[in-house]
Amino acid sequence: MQKTIPWFFSLHGGHSKEFCDHASSSVEDIILRAIELGMPVYGFSEHAPRCHEKYLYPEEIQLKKTPDDLINSFYSYCRTISELQNKYADQITILKGLEIEVVPPDKYVQFYRKLVKEGNIEYVVGSVHWVNEFMTDFSLDTFKQAVKAHQGLENLMIAYYQTLKEMVISIKPDIVAHFDLITCFLKPNEVPEYTPELMRVIEQTLEKVKETNCILELNTSGLRKPISRIFPDETIIKISAEMGIPFTFADDSHSSEQVGYGIEKARELLLTLGITTITRLNKQNHQIIRETLPLL
Ligand SMILES: [Zn+2]
Ligand SMILES: [Zn+2]
Repeated sequence: MQKTIPWFFSLHGGHSKEFCDHASSSVEDIILRAIELGMPVYGFSEHAPRCHEKYLYPEEIQLKKTPDDLINSFYSYCRTISELQNKYADQITILKGLEIEVVPPDKYVQFYRKLVKEGNIEYVVGSVHWVNEFMTDFSLDTFKQAVKAHQGLENLMIAYYQTLKEMVISIKPDIVAHFDLITCFLKPNEVPEYTPELMRVIEQTLEKVKETNCILELNTSGLRKPISRIFPDETIIKISAEMGIPFTFADDSHSSEQVGYGIEKARELLLTLGITTITRLNKQNHQIIRETLPLL
């Protein structure tokens, strides 16, 4: 077994073609790639099923899938990860996570609590992809529709952070995903300056992240998007660090080629900002534990 690098891991990603229709590699290929790269821990966080057809992803609609199909696929995901955790136990620690959604707004909390319990999910990644019924990160087109419906980018951004804050309060996820994902379709020069209103809601959201003891991820998928940077931006990382919020790494991989993508860059970014530790989830005696590791 090759020597592993403690900070080279990801806790959000491993979206696989078996369980995600916009992913392209099998669960096993993703695990083999993580082993090949010398990752000590790899967390799978498949997209949670949605209980109403209104929230199917565009490719699921094309494939004529129903919410029941997604729920069956979720249980199959849970079984598959459990089997492969055992199969590869002597080479890598695989964690079974779930990336939850905030829809339907009035039902998601109970719905996901039930899934986490029934599927023996080991940790939860909390995401906001929908804002007031608009899917914000699927395409430039859907993003533009969301901006229009909110009468401007700033209003949409404020509504996004409010939704994120409410999700953190009600779900208390282990990890808060791609904190400023709402910027993903903006080019770097299109990102607005932080107005006092926007900064206020960002700080309030981070205060809840701190209060609920969540970990904030550095998500490298932004490097593949028009914004061309890691989520969140340096301003948000600095404020979080001052508040004492811990960070973790997320490759948000949807293929085996994306496993480990940008993690070294994320590490460099933290070091540049004077942050020298990273928080990792791991497993000890069948329990999920948190470890704080040096980045140097
Ligand atoms: Zn995805
Ligand atoms: Zn996501």
